Amino acid sequence: MSVDVQTALRSPRSYDLAKTALEVMEANQVWPTVRNFELWVHYVAEKESPLAQEIDRLLAAGEPFTETVGAELAAMFLPEAKLNGDILEAGDVLSKELQSVTAAIETAQKSSEEYGQELAIASGRLQDGDDAGEVKAVVKDLAEATKKVQGETAVLETQLAETTAELGRLRESLDQVRRDAMTDGLTNLANRKAFDERLESTCGKADADGEGMTLAIIDIDHFKGFNDAWGHQIGDQVLRYVASVIGRMGATPRMAARYGGEEFAIIFPAENGRIAKAVLEEIREEVSSRSLKRRSTNEDLGAITVSAGYAERIAGESAMSLVERADAALYASKHAGRNRTTAAQPMAAVAAA
Ligand code: C2E
Repeated sequence: MSVDVQTALRSPRSYDLAKTALEVMEANQVWPTVRNFELWVHYVAEKESPLAQEIDRLLAAGEPFTETVGAELAAMFLPEAKLNGDILEAGDVLSKELQSVTAAIETAQKSSEEYGQELAIASGRLQDGDDAGEVKAVVKDLAEATKKVQGETAVLETQLAETTAELGRLRESLDQVRRDAMTDGLTNLANRKAFDERLESTCGKADADGEGMTLAIIDIDHFKGFNDAWGHQIGDQVLRYVASVIGRMGATPRMAARYGGEEFAIIFPAENGRIAKAVLEEIREEVSSRSLKRRSTNEDLGAITVSAGYAERIAGESAMSLVERADAALYASKHAGRNRTTAAQPMAAVAAA
């Protein structure tokens, strides 16, 4: 079977991952063990990752993907050697389903062969025999053989329906695994890993399309002091509140992420610094205009403010440089007194400094 991996990856919807991984594995004659499954899910999900590049290199060199190769790749690129529990479970389910479908197909094949032989014998008996008793016996044998095949086919159909349903559940659970792996548990925004990946891909797309883009970094002012004064539980609620405002303003096609502890980021694909600045000012004003209350006692928690920095990308600029410039702009906001938004210096000015 020939599968165009690039085509499959062009629509990397996460629930397609397992299916794509299996197709690519089959195309490359990789045995579907749980470890191989995890490696190939990573392969199809993270096309630019070092693991994917190494697999591409092995494929290009025509090297067979043996168990030893799989073990080496896992040791090298999945260093925690801790397979995600859900993926393991999904792999086990898949293995069992494949086994039972294979068994059902084998049984159905065997009875279909036997049925063929039965038909051949019956045909011979009908040609040779000329009495009514013989014809009756042949018809009875044929009816029995047909019933048996019908039974086997029904079992196979049921098995296939169950497997299809199980694969649907498997896709959903892998989808959930992927979402969880990319989401910050406290704020429900994209996490750092998802942000890093998206920033790289947005930079690549900006260059490919000849478009600009902007990156913003936002930090809650005096968050540590706030945490110390009110406790971590209230601190978490502040994070969630700020995240809810940032998430709304940074909704798709933008991407809002929790970048670090009390730092957030927004990627603005195909949008310039002027737009980003307006959005950041809106976030800043909304956050500072609302006074949060301690819900148990109605105590006023005081005003929360945020500082922001943004950098409009220069064609060809690396993701790292863009982050550095946005970060420097954020620190300029902090040094200038907080609760403000600052544009990054152009690259030339950074270089001169
Ligand atoms: P959460 O506590 O999980 O609340 C989620 C959403 O439910 C809130 O979104 C709000 O729409 C609604 N909600 C929850 N409790 C109340 C309430 O007592 N009164 C009202 N009017 N609505 C309520 P929202 O406003 O975007 O807040 C997101 C998160 O920010 C909240 O998550 C919470 O963690 C934090 N937060 C927001 N406002 C306050 C506040 O005044 N005090 C505290 N301690 N935390 C707040």
